[in-house]
Amino acid sequence: MAKLSIRDVDVRGKRVLVRVDFNVPTKEDGGKTEITDDTRIREALPTINYLREHKAKTILMSHFGRPKGKPVPKYSLRPVAEYLHTLIDQPVMFSHETVGDVPQKIVSGMRDGDVAMLENLRFQSGEEANDPKFASTLADLGDIYVNDAFGAAHRAHASTAGIAMFMNVRAMGFLMEKELKYLHEELDKPAKPFVVIMGGAKVSDKIGVLKALMEKADAILIGGAMANTFFKAEGIPIGASRVEVDKTNLANELVDLAKERGVQFLLPIDVIEAQEIKAGAKKQNTSRLSRESGITDGWQAVDIGTATIALFQEEITKGKTILWNGPVGIFEIPDFADGTIAIAEAMAKSTGTTVIGGGDSVTAVKQAGLADKMTFISTGGGASLELLEGKKLPGVAALSDKE
Ligand code: ADP
Ligand code: MG
Repeated sequence: MAKLSIRDVDVRGKRVLVRVDFNVPTKEDGGKTEITDDTRIREALPTINYLREHKAKTILMSHFGRPKGKPVPKYSLRPVAEYLHTLIDQPVMFSHETVGDVPQKIVSGMRDGDVAMLENLRFQSGEEANDPKFASTLADLGDIYVNDAFGAAHRAHASTAGIAMFMNVRAMGFLMEKELKYLHEELDKPAKPFVVIMGGAKVSDKIGVLKALMEKADAILIGGAMANTFFKAEGIPIGASRVEVDKTNLANELVDLAKERGVQFLLPIDVIEAQEIKAGAKKQNTSRLSRESGITDGWQAVDIGTATIALFQEEITKGKTILWNGPVGIFEIPDFADGTIAIAEAMAKSTGTTVIGGGDSVTAVKQAGLADKMTFISTGGGASLELLEGKKLPGVAALSDKE
């Protein structure tokens, strides 16, 4: 079940069809689409530049937004192609049709080293439906298939899964390889102690990941709204905090599982509580949480407290491998971002391997200006979580040798 890297493939003069994840955040500015975070494009540059240097004909394909199977002008990839042009200092031949005569003609006119990009894959209903006919039409455009779209690897779509059976040569791009190296190989046998920080909105989103990590982690630190469900399960008053009342049994189960596995399972010992979820709202640090003294009636937990920050930082310092998923507070509001920033700072200082997965946690680390201090930051939100859960990603499985 070996997977090839593009280094293993002779790409010279070949048409290389590369699935990238250029589903970047944008904003409209006077009718112009502006890319607000170009990380995913930059992370694909090693693959694109390798192919250019090795004189391949590079044909890029991606999805962008949710046009739902038909052309929607605001989801055109043209601005992304134009942006890529500025990054690689080479024209990007843009095909305003995803498949058919237009891309066929562009591709047949390509010279070695040229780069082209197809219009949004999701303008075609066959993409998300993983339609074999659409997949084979895409496959006709290339001799070699490369998948560098880790962020889309958890979806079985035509360009990530179906296409593989129509291509004889399939390989991972460098980004895909890097994501799998850190999220899969390194975390499969992590250097110990292995410390995990889990936060975010819901326990129910993270059950699979938490259970899978119980098999490997030495310590799991819980923050965010998900902590409230554990408080509730333990009989600690939670005031008006966000909670999943129907998940308290599950919370108890996870605590028991941690005991069974000998995993240190740490909940916040204090929190920042606020009267409202908005900037400038009245807030205060609670005292030590217990059944007798919890979150104030009508107030909500919005961040971890100062004692918890100290405790979590100490645990993070002990880690040789540290994995973080999910902000520990409502970090979008700067008043409630201290805990999340403190976690990012502790990780930045660590001499261990630091890995961050998940959409919002990555945003938080970037906002804190600490992204370059981490060993690895995943470009995949959903894909990274599914991989951590131990699930097989269709986009990765499709790259393995046919049996
Ligand atoms: P990720 O994308 O990193 O996996 P999630 O999507 O699970 O993270 O959770 C992120 C969201 O959780 C953020 O929008 C954040 O505001 C929210 N959150 C964190 N702590 C709390 C809290 N105490 N109360 C309500 N929402 C919270
Ligand atoms: Mg999220």
